[in-house]
Amino acid sequence: MLNQALTSIKGIGPKRAERFAALGLFSVRDLLYLFPRYYLDYSRPRLISQIEHGEFAVVKVEFIGLPKTVRIRNGMTITTVSVGDESGNMQATWYNQPYAAGLVPKEVGGFVMGRMDKRHGAKLITPSFTNELPGILPIYPLVRGLNQKIVRDAVKNAVHSCMDELDESFDEALMQKFDLISLKSAIKNIHFPNGMESLEAARKRLAFEDALIFTIVLEILRSDRNRNAGIAYRTDNCMKEFISLLPFAPTNAQLEVMNELNADMCLLRPMNRLIQGDVGSGKTILALYAMFVAMKNGYQSVLMAPTEILAEQHYRQLKNIFGERAALITGGMSRKQSEEVIQGIREGSILVVTGTHALIENKVEFHKLGLVITDEQHRFGVRQRAALGHKGCCPDALIMSATPIPRTLSLILYGDLDISIVDGMPPGRKPVKTRFVPQEKRIDMYRYIEACIREQGIQTYVVCPMIEENDEMGDVNSAENVFKELRENLDVRVELMHGRMKNAEKEQIMNEFRLGDIDLLVSTTVIEVGVDVPNACVIVIESADRFGLAQLHQLRGRVGRGDKESFCFLLSASRSKSVKDRLETLVATNDGFKIAEKDLETRGPGEFMGTRQHGISEFGTAALAMNLETLTRARDAAIEIMKDPGRSGEKLIESAKNKYRSVIENVAIN
Ligand code: ADP
Ligand code: MG
Repeated sequence: MLNQALTSIKGIGPKRAERFAALGLFSVRDLLYLFPRYYLDYSRPRLISQIEHGEFAVVKVEFIGLPKTVRIRNGMTITTVSVGDESGNMQATWYNQPYAAGLVPKEVGGFVMGRMDKRHGAKLITPSFTNELPGILPIYPLVRGLNQKIVRDAVKNAVHSCMDELDESFDEALMQKFDLISLKSAIKNIHFPNGMESLEAARKRLAFEDALIFTIVLEILRSDRNRNAGIAYRTDNCMKEFISLLPFAPTNAQLEVMNELNADMCLLRPMNRLIQGDVGSGKTILALYAMFVAMKNGYQSVLMAPTEILAEQHYRQLKNIFGERAALITGGMSRKQSEEVIQGIREGSILVVTGTHALIENKVEFHKLGLVITDEQHRFGVRQRAALGHKGCCPDALIMSATPIPRTLSLILYGDLDISIVDGMPPGRKPVKTRFVPQEKRIDMYRYIEACIREQGIQTYVVCPMIEENDEMGDVNSAENVFKELRENLDVRVELMHGRMKNAEKEQIMNEFRLGDIDLLVSTTVIEVGVDVPNACVIVIESADRFGLAQLHQLRGRVGRGDKESFCFLLSASRSKSVKDRLETLVATNDGFKIAEKDLETRGPGEFMGTRQHGISEFGTAALAMNLETLTRARDAAIEIMKDPGRSGEKLIESAKNKYRSVIENVAIN
């Protein structure tokens, strides 16, 4: 039954099955693996006086009087019934649901649950009634045509009818060793937990399984790597010569990484290395150095950029070092120009190339490609690399990342790569001054920025967590609102940029900003991290508490690129002490790795999982409960399983290969 269509479940006909399909669910198994987004804890009754504004709660109440409905403006209705417990009274309240009056039980009392609103007296919003304590209620993702009850009933039916068919993928020894419950109990408890403890146990088991499968994939990738023959470069004297071409002396951190590149590139095994370093730590010359080694050995190399703007920035640097042997491919080139470049690459007269991923992947055939450099979002596999190059040889790969990740975590998340860290900044960089700005000083701050723009000609970024207001997020300043507000009130040129705009439109605005035609740019997080606008030396982050620290640090890296003193202002309406403490970390340090450690400590590894965007890290459940300990233990288990699989290990390896088939094929098979 597990693999049958959803219509085999009681209560799901073809119409409903279509709605479930819109959620991405087709089989009964899919339904079992539709994990709740969160839970409402209705397992213990609360006292009315103790429930906080915004909280969901269940209360054992007595009804006081009968429900009544009043009509207000625009034909809207409010239906209420007074209820009370020993601590006080409140109104059970429905908006525009006059029929709700009929749903109030005829008994004198019972349980009522809903969301507390305390703005004008105590109200429980859109409540429902039961005779028994509801326990912990799962809340599922929905689409139109489904509601929580429909989904909950469907899941309940699925759990009842086919639990026994679920195949346990762990053997007893493994479950015992890592203190895990069985798959069956985990699935049952992730949907309908008896209490918080059994929910935790369920999450732990499911998260461990996801993490194990993930780390097994990394082990497979790692073990495959050593089998592919690569290029053994000669690196003698490369460093000295390269350094003599630079306008500055490399920092110790940069020298260290160059040595690591030397050691790796001279091996016959293909290099597969990640360079991590804060924004501004000087990673570009490290990429250029690897390209230099390739060039000295007669090999071509390519530096892939996420946007044309960045490709152009790279190209300016490439020209300084490689002169005529460097080329840029952009969408804006004339046909004639681009054909010339493409021909040069095919014939081998051009040795170093930069451009956007799409352009290079689609159009170019290399004469003798020896090195591919990408950023972490777009890193791609050996098969793709091989398709770009000549037959039979596997180019080295270098991946650049501006996301500092705690070492303990990156060893796992990037377990298939070797890692170099640039820890230290080039001399003379002034740290960005970071300030926490309370709500009551917000207007003054914008006035001050306006004056700086008008008097000193500086430019400013304003970053907001989202494009427009939405109910789920509550009190957040959206980009659209801030844009309107600033445009009306400030006497400078304000523009808006966000992710729903077309690429051409975004590039246009970014270009105008670079040229200095825009004074203040309000945006969501779409601005490219690497973009270099030296004159932009103030960044304001609205509702900063909505971002992770690592992300805030990234955003802050957009300023401080020129000689001017730079500022980062963190705004937050939150009065919570923990929010302020967290943001103070940014005020206190400019070291991305320290900040990442703090993020890992306070928010868990979830923040960092999304940084690997090539398919491996699409954790399902794992994100719910993933912590460093789970990941570490899973990795240990994965290493053991790869060494000595046994029967259940074979099965796990098989499912890892199935789940991540496309990743493995693209990254690992030569
Ligand atoms: P990243 O890519 O790591 O964000 P970049 O490579 O763009 O940083 O470097 C930031 C700036 O620092 C660039 O203007 C670069 O020329 C400069 N830079 C890099 N290394 C050094 C160095 N050793 N000494 C002085 N300036 C440096
Ligand atoms: Mg090599």
